Amino acid sequence: MTTKLPQLILKPGKEKPIKNFHHWIFSGAIKQFPKEAKDGDFVSVYGSNGELLGSAYINRKTSITARMVSFDNTEPIDSIVSHMDKAIAVRNNFFDDTQTNAFRLINSEGDGIPGLVVDKYDDVIVVQITTLGIEKIKADIVDYLVNKLKPICIYERSDMPSRREEGLKNQVGLLYGEGVKEKAIKEYGALFKVDFVDSQKTGFFLDQREMRQQVKKLAKNKKVLNCFSYTGGFSVMAGIGGAQKVDSVDISDPAIELAKENFCLNDLDIKHNSFIVEDVFEFLRKDSVKNIYDFIILDPPAFAKKRGDIVKACRGYKDINRLALQNIQSSGILITSSCSYYVDEKLFQQVVFEAAVEAKRSVRIIDKHHYAPDHPINIFHPEGNYLKSLVLWVE
Ligand code: SAH
Repeated sequence: MTTKLPQLILKPGKEKPIKNFHHWIFSGAIKQFPKEAKDGDFVSVYGSNGELLGSAYINRKTSITARMVSFDNTEPIDSIVSHMDKAIAVRNNFFDDTQTNAFRLINSEGDGIPGLVVDKYDDVIVVQITTLGIEKIKADIVDYLVNKLKPICIYERSDMPSRREEGLKNQVGLLYGEGVKEKAIKEYGALFKVDFVDSQKTGFFLDQREMRQQVKKLAKNKKVLNCFSYTGGFSVMAGIGGAQKVDSVDISDPAIELAKENFCLNDLDIKHNSFIVEDVFEFLRKDSVKNIYDFIILDPPAFAKKRGDIVKACRGYKDINRLALQNIQSSGILITSSCSYYVDEKLFQQVVFEAAVEAKRSVRIIDKHHYAPDHPINIFHPEGNYLKSLVLWVE
């Protein structure tokens, strides 16, 4: 490193995760903190024996007190630029803009840059920053994205609860260019209108792209119920796949309105299909839902946002899965997802097993989640693996 950075020294025995390229350093692993470094600054990270392990940015306010940005003597900012270059090159391997022009360009630790998510929606870029360290270099990141991608505009959607722990307020707004509030994007040839301002996440659930293709393949002639439909991603793909009927349920009125627009954009009939603004927990308890559908999709929001939520979250997952299994027709397909990091795959499958026992239905797993290649999981950072799905055959 040519620039002399303040030095953070780890306690003896705490080097191993960093030598294994894990990005996180918890406060308990630190022997000596550089007094001169301010929160958000870059530091050099050393083992207890004085060996240089790389560089990180720090924030004393959080339990993850430092996050590694390089694992050698590369300057932190050079390392981040090199990781952004590589992340974008990976996407260029997988996506053909004429077919799919919306995908995640940078997936935080999955691409070696903790705290930074960048999504591309055709020529609009949406940035999400979760840490103070990245917040401090936001201007450099915007410059890089403008030069590299020549977008018409860049939005910031840094509005998530985890920012509070970093001492950051939510930030939403235009960072560059002429803002367009919404845009129709392409996904495997289908069209979806995405709202960048009044929406969830960065606008669209890009992480379910490959599962939407599964739905397209499985939906032919089926009567589909898409629960927690948001703007109709799964619903539209089921329609394109030849479903007999697709009903979409979400608690959000604007999301359901956009789902209707998305049907129209894809020349699907909105009169023949239903768009229902309702709480799924109540909807699934109605007698009128019994034995109507032979394909149900459950893709709820994360029920467990922290470790302490696990028990309550599992109760919620069991409830909706039991209700769906009780309601579904024989020889039906249930796709059930969880995006709660704290409910891992094994636990989720256990919960669905319990739901099947209570519903007294015979259930076979015929497929599992397919990650989209723009949401890579860093093998050194398995914490990035939050989304799981089961595709079930129900007798
Ligand atoms: N499957 C969607 C993403 C779902 S996100 C896709 O692939 O695009 C979760 C959705 O659940 C949000 O749209 C939110 O409005 C909705 N939601 C949250 N709680 C709900 C509830 N109790 N009943 C119905 N919808 C709910």
